[in-house]
Amino acid sequence: MTTPLASTSRLKDVLSVYFHELDDAARTHSAPVAWCSSVGPVELLRALGYRVFFPENHSAMLGAARTANHYMTRAHALGYSPDSCSYLSSDVGAYLSGETALARYGIAEVPHPDVLVFNTNQCRDVRDWFDYYAREWDVPAIGITSFRCLDRIEQDHVDAIALQHERLVAPLEAIAGRRLDAPNLEETLRLSREGSGLWRAVLETATHRPSPLSFFEATIQMAPAVVLRGTEEACAYYRLLLAELQDRVSRKVAAVSGERFRIYWEGMPIWGKLRALSELFESLRTCVVASTYCNSWIFDALDPADPFRSMARSSLELFIVRAEQAKERYLEQMAGQYQVDGLLFHDCRTCPNNSNSRYGMPGRLRERLGLPVLSVDGDVNDLRCYSEEQSMTSIEGFVEQLAEAF
Ligand code: SF4
Repeated sequence: MTTPLASTSRLKDVLSVYFHELDDAARTHSAPVAWCSSVGPVELLRALGYRVFFPENHSAMLGAARTANHYMTRAHALGYSPDSCSYLSSDVGAYLSGETALARYGIAEVPHPDVLVFNTNQCRDVRDWFDYYAREWDVPAIGITSFRCLDRIEQDHVDAIALQHERLVAPLEAIAGRRLDAPNLEETLRLSREGSGLWRAVLETATHRPSPLSFFEATIQMAPAVVLRGTEEACAYYRLLLAELQDRVSRKVAAVSGERFRIYWEGMPIWGKLRALSELFESLRTCVVASTYCNSWIFDALDPADPFRSMARSSLELFIVRAEQAKERYLEQMAGQYQVDGLLFHDCRTCPNNSNSRYGMPGRLRERLGLPVLSVDGDVNDLRCYSEEQSMTSIEGFVEQLAEAF
């Protein structure tokens, strides 16, 4: 079994400081607190001095701790369908139960926000989710209503979304009690761009054979790219992690010892089954080397010299918001770059937005790339939608198929 990444102990400290600063700001009102959707306009919020909480990260923690199913039914009883986003239902259910995944950091409750800021570039559900808390706590929920299913991104798309970013400034200034300072915004974008570049470099170490990093490790290592986007803390952490991975590359240390096959993971993680899946792939000497999910926090378009338009372009370039044609071009490029032997599509029951196996894409890519493709039914947090036995058998059969083909 491969030695765990040493950087992870530093990661725990970085996240602990982040959550405690948020908790302190919410309890003492020493700084305004915003909730932000995971690919929302965080740079704007940080430049205005907000401490920023990401409820999707909180839901992922509930999923990874396997407590999500315990909470979801509370939200279902409120009228949120069992088919609606299980991130939403587990987070709202935990709140209704008076519990939080932050308890592991000694924090009693999620930080209460002064404002909730969404971007529907990923789905409508983030808005429904934030609207729940806006009603519950009588705080504003504001945000960006995005174009979706874009193949090519045109200038008028960018201009329209940039304008929506600009229109957020006045209400966010009023809530924060301070004006937006242009150099602050530029510096936040610079840090965000640098952190994004470092995160890309971390993930791209997996282009090497053997790969020093697996998807299952990357889902843990991605936390700063999500919750600390636009901060020096994220950059510092990824410099450390990158150095460790580069050292692994130079010594040919593999994430999966005896790596035989390389797989691409398309779709959401199954948080409550990361360990089991990681162990299964390891036993099959198959490394999941890349994923759309972890790569979704790479924002190449961010440009401190053109903050609003570059934030808009970044938000529109996101994989999840694109049309099938653009997604297929991206997956083709990734399959080549990471030299994968096959693709696995996770059909996430409660997230149709991030499930790409429902409109024929796996078959088209199988034909176009000449690679075996497997679809697995599951869910990001709702483990009732996942059959361990069936999935394990399918994955084992898929790897056998790879062994016969190569
Ligand atoms: S992208 Fe999917 S998992 Fe994420 S908030 Fe939207 S519906 Fe939920």
